[in-house]
Amino acid sequence: MSIKRVLVTGGAGFLGSHLCERLVDRGEDVICLDNFFTSQKSNVVHLLGRSNFELIRHDVTHPIWLEVDEIYNLACPAAPGHYQYNPIKTMKTSVMGAINMLGTAKRCRAKILQASTSEVYGDPDIHPQPESYRGNVNPIGPRACYDEGKRAAETLFFDYQRSNGVNIRVVRIFNTYGPRMHPFDGRVVSNFICQALKGEPITIFGDGDQSRSFCYVDDLVDGLIAMMNGPDEFVGPLNLGNPDEFTICELAELVVEMVGGDSRMEFEDLPPDDPRQRQPDISLAAAKLGWSPKIKLREGLGRTIEWFRSIRMEDYRAPTPNH
Ligand code: NAD
Ligand code: UDP
Repeated sequence: MSIKRVLVTGGAGFLGSHLCERLVDRGEDVICLDNFFTSQKSNVVHLLGRSNFELIRHDVTHPIWLEVDEIYNLACPAAPGHYQYNPIKTMKTSVMGAINMLGTAKRCRAKILQASTSEVYGDPDIHPQPESYRGNVNPIGPRACYDEGKRAAETLFFDYQRSNGVNIRVVRIFNTYGPRMHPFDGRVVSNFICQALKGEPITIFGDGDQSRSFCYVDDLVDGLIAMMNGPDEFVGPLNLGNPDEFTICELAELVVEMVGGDSRMEFEDLPPDDPRQRQPDISLAAAKLGWSPKIKLREGLGRTIEWFRSIRMEDYRAPTPNH
């Protein structure tokens, strides 16, 4: 088959930059589109010299005219502090971004994959969460701009498929971590590592008994590419994540042990609507794509800590005051 022209929106972000790197290495003709709200060019600077990589500064809430064969739609702030900074913009990015990218896919007859999220399940009362679970989302709370924006985007994807025959894929990504997470994004893995490296207290929100299941970025990128290249009859939604579940206190202890130092735990209020538990049921991904994550938390954390040790914090701009 000829070389594909692949558009990655949000391509300079944490997940997007790893995806772009992998696609460039596969020999695809990659267009990375980003407005750098929660990222910076340093995430993709190493790709700029490659002849099959191109970077466009653009905001997905505005239309753009491109000719492409595949679209990975990742543009959206993902950390709670980032998406709550300007909630109306977050909703616009999810909804208008989906409409603009689905319109592009329709015109170009391109295949398009949506990066949806485990947040569509809200604070789940079924555990682990299968794709058939319809969720428990508060539509008017502080997380709603993200959760409902992503739910509306899923609706648009399936309506464009039914009404216009667009070739879609929808994946629901569970907590993913790794190198190039923004050091000021406030997400639990990046926050704990930065706090441990600086010898500061580890901030536990609530009692720390709430759980998350953490997937290493390389596994997740494998899943994204497998889904995009999977059979056209299987469009999702599909859970992608690592089912190994940890409480937030367990994560804190592991990070402090691995970083070293003597950071103590400091308990703070639990943010409103913070899900109590989260674990993906990934049996569908295994059955349909033969995909399952390979990298254990300890190994992934080791690589992530090593990266955080290597960066200079001064090179990072805090995108929001939430740090
Ligand atoms: P990230 O914040 O690092 O990446 C998002 C990227 O989108 C950034 O580069 C940002 O600048 C860009 N962006 C934001 N708004 C934009 C706009 N209006 N126009 C153009 N670009 C814009 O976050 P991430 O963790 O890499 O997440 C990538 C995608 O995966 C997001 O859609 C997110 O919802 C989804 N996701 C991530 C996780 C996770 O754990 N990392 C979990 C579930 C879903
Ligand atoms: N959390 C915490 N301390 C922090 C950051 C996060 O205890 O410094 C908790 C947060 O309340 C949530 C979990 O860690 O229960 C995961 O938070 P994150 O923001 O990474 O992602 P979420 O899954 O909530 O979107």
